[in-house]
Amino acid sequence: MTYKPKLFVKTYGCQMNVNDSEYIVGQLIKLGYSTTEDIFKSNLILLNTCCVRAKVEQKIYSLIGKIKKIKENNPNVILGICGCMAQKEKENIFERAPYVDFIFSPSQVNNLEKIINTVKYGNLKYISCENTSEFSFNHIPVKRESKISAWIQIMRGCNNYCSYCVVPYTRGPEQSRGVSEIVSEVKNLVKDKYKEIFLLGQNVNSYGKDLSQPATFSELLELLNNIKGIERIRFTTSHPKDFSFDLIKTIKKCHKICNHIHLPIQSGSSKILKVMNRKYDVNYYMNIIKEIRNNIDNIAITTDAMVGFPGETEKDFMDTLRAFKEIEFDEAYTFIYSNRENAIASLLPEKIPLKLKKERLWKLIDLQKEISAKINKKLEGEILEVLVDKKPKRYIENQFSGRTGPNKTVVFTSKKNLLGQLVKVKIIKSTAWTLYGELIE
Ligand code: SF4
Repeated sequence: MTYKPKLFVKTYGCQMNVNDSEYIVGQLIKLGYSTTEDIFKSNLILLNTCCVRAKVEQKIYSLIGKIKKIKENNPNVILGICGCMAQKEKENIFERAPYVDFIFSPSQVNNLEKIINTVKYGNLKYISCENTSEFSFNHIPVKRESKISAWIQIMRGCNNYCSYCVVPYTRGPEQSRGVSEIVSEVKNLVKDKYKEIFLLGQNVNSYGKDLSQPATFSELLELLNNIKGIERIRFTTSHPKDFSFDLIKTIKKCHKICNHIHLPIQSGSSKILKVMNRKYDVNYYMNIIKEIRNNIDNIAITTDAMVGFPGETEKDFMDTLRAFKEIEFDEAYTFIYSNRENAIASLLPEKIPLKLKKERLWKLIDLQKEISAKINKKLEGEILEVLVDKKPKRYIENQFSGRTGPNKTVVFTSKKNLLGQLVKVKIIKSTAWTLYGELIE
């Protein structure tokens, strides 16, 4: 048996990072590595980082600190840092942890073979953080985590400069992948029997504007909808300012596009939205929701919202609660504002004390929980189509979990292995986050 060096990858943050790690692992397997879950057995450690919240960054620095011991015990272990924190911190990482061997930015993920060879054959302390001119994964090997649902990055970067966000500085300006490259990736996924594709981008609604032959996101969706063999199409994230009526029509028309839209509101106060540089106000947001619901039946809408943005008064927070009550999101990802030193909002005065931020967060979570529970309760007794995609985290024998088109998690039991299949489940019980049902044979 030939010896294969071991690779340990830890991924933080969003789905883009998860997908980047799939490309990282794919390329390193091609270079002869095999993966391990045990960091102590690894020859190459890669941390794919995130810097959206200060707390995550502290956690990563703390792990880098612990890896020092591993490198002291075995100086041959190579440590690389990539992802958004690598791009933001660059040489600072070498200063804080001189034993880190190399750093590369998210835009260099498809260049890993060259990076690893440079590091291995002498040039340690290597940094590769320049933005490439073209975004492509053509011919880059990928090792996907799921065999049922595949992440596909259709664009990367962002031009929006929301005042609290560092993504435009870490992932660079918007860059779209070519239409034909995406279409051929999806056709290959069909050959590999994938059922669902999940299109990713920081702002998918502005897909294609930068291409030499410009295309719209709606046009891309229609093309993908026509590919035989793919059952479901999902996408995230949409920016409300770019969410067009054309896209609503496309979702309505294309039956493979799931009835689920994730549309971050961020705040229910127009005053705060302005300081966030979100480029829409609450009325504008409400009107999009109305258009979506008037045109697409049975649509689930989820959101992101932040509390404790600098200058957020009690009235601003009450406006957020009011917007949540009025809109009734299916689900919401709620966060406490986190100061990021490169983002404009870090310069704003009137910072909100942590205790108050936490109180507001819990009020919002409690409200959303009530709303989600109410919406899910109405689904009891209904028969829903579910794509079975995993065994639940706390696995009980014969239990499976899947998602409906509107992205509700459904748990049920079956003696047959139904992973990857579309099945009908009658909902018998619900909570705010999960539906429980019986398989309709
Ligand atoms: S749209 Fe705003 S929050 Fe989203 S990635 Fe761009 S700058 Fe960040």
